[in-house]
Amino acid sequence: MTTIRRIQPLRRIAEILQAVLIIGIPFLTINGESALRFDIPSLRLHVFGISLWMDEFFLLLIALIFVTFFTFLVTLTFGRIWCGWVCPQTVLVDFTRFLDKAYSKGVAYRLISYALTFLISMIVAANLIWYFVSPYEFFHRLYSGSLGNIISGFWCVMTAIVFLNLLLLRRNFCATVCPYAKLQSVLFDRGTLLIAFDPTRQEECMNCMACVTACPVEIDIRKGSNAACVSCAECIDACSRMMWRRQKKGLIDYFYGSPGDRPRLFRQNVVLMASLTIVFFFLFLYLSISRVPLDMMVLPHYAFPPRILADGKVVNSYILSLENKSRTEKEVTLQAMRSKGLISITPEKVHLSAGEYKKVPVYVTVSQIFPWTTFEDIEILLESEDRDRVIIKRGVRFTIPNTQ
Ligand code: SF4
Ligand code: SF4
Repeated sequence: MTTIRRIQPLRRIAEILQAVLIIGIPFLTINGESALRFDIPSLRLHVFGISLWMDEFFLLLIALIFVTFFTFLVTLTFGRIWCGWVCPQTVLVDFTRFLDKAYSKGVAYRLISYALTFLISMIVAANLIWYFVSPYEFFHRLYSGSLGNIISGFWCVMTAIVFLNLLLLRRNFCATVCPYAKLQSVLFDRGTLLIAFDPTRQEECMNCMACVTACPVEIDIRKGSNAACVSCAECIDACSRMMWRRQKKGLIDYFYGSPGDRPRLFRQNVVLMASLTIVFFFLFLYLSISRVPLDMMVLPHYAFPPRILADGKVVNSYILSLENKSRTEKEVTLQAMRSKGLISITPEKVHLSAGEYKKVPVYVTVSQIFPWTTFEDIEILLESEDRDRVIIKRGVRFTIPNTQ
């Protein structure tokens, strides 16, 4: 017995899950930091427990390459599945479907639906801000009236943009503004999953137009694939309902390539794209896990040139540029070494707060020098003795001033 295809309830579930995820992620904290947030004051990106600094943005680049290949892979295999099931524009338009009836209803309905859309727009705009300012801080500042001009201004502008988009553009956004929609047709091949009308059963079509009426972008899928199609599957359900009356299967469905073709998931280009996706995923994972939480750069201390003390010892000074990229404070030990063993360095210990970057002047003293030398190559060592146990060595030149 034939049953009616009901894809829309599944799409609603996917859309609700997407909304919960996008709104919920900023509230999620891992190791005391937002799960996903770019902190503008410190220029740090927090990504699920990892904090990336500006000078580590190559990791972000690798993550972006991974996401790009993954998107290509999904598009090549499943077509416009993103557009139809979880794209924020699709979800928002579906959540504000009441607007579609606003023009044919009374003033009260219209006002309520506009007010509701404005409220949704405010939440969407605030949600966007939460990926830059923690929602906990946002609500605290909102409650205390100290949100500030920049955040308040951005919130107002974004609310207006989202509101106008939902009111005026709606599905037209996909066909006019969205760059991903334009890119997709280039990525499709003969085996990509598509929603299509089965031409082999053309004579069974009742010409009831239910598929066309149900289509939110008002296209007739029976005429073939159309770039404006957002893969919402409304036409599948509509046709299935009509054909069910005749106890027949719907004429519109998901097909890999053309109706009747066998699904070929392991195509050459799919395998290539999948391989690249996997390579960049593991590269990102490896580089993220193996990154060192401390960094040290040794710079010359121009305000303190090399000098010989009254007791004959030679002092050189350097500026250590220290960076604690971890979320815990660190006590680091400094040592200086020449080929003949340890030499004195002051200070020997430096405290670094979580996420702190500071410049520390250090003084290296050598007591025994050979009068015919003008410089020596020495090493400055930094060691943290916590569970991360980082050792960083930097070679520097120790200058012996000319005493003649
Ligand atoms: S043809 Fe229309 S109803 Fe069918 S999937 Fe495409 S956009 Fe949706
Ligand atoms: S809903 Fe099905 S039967 Fe009706 S016009 Fe569309 S394809 Fe034909």
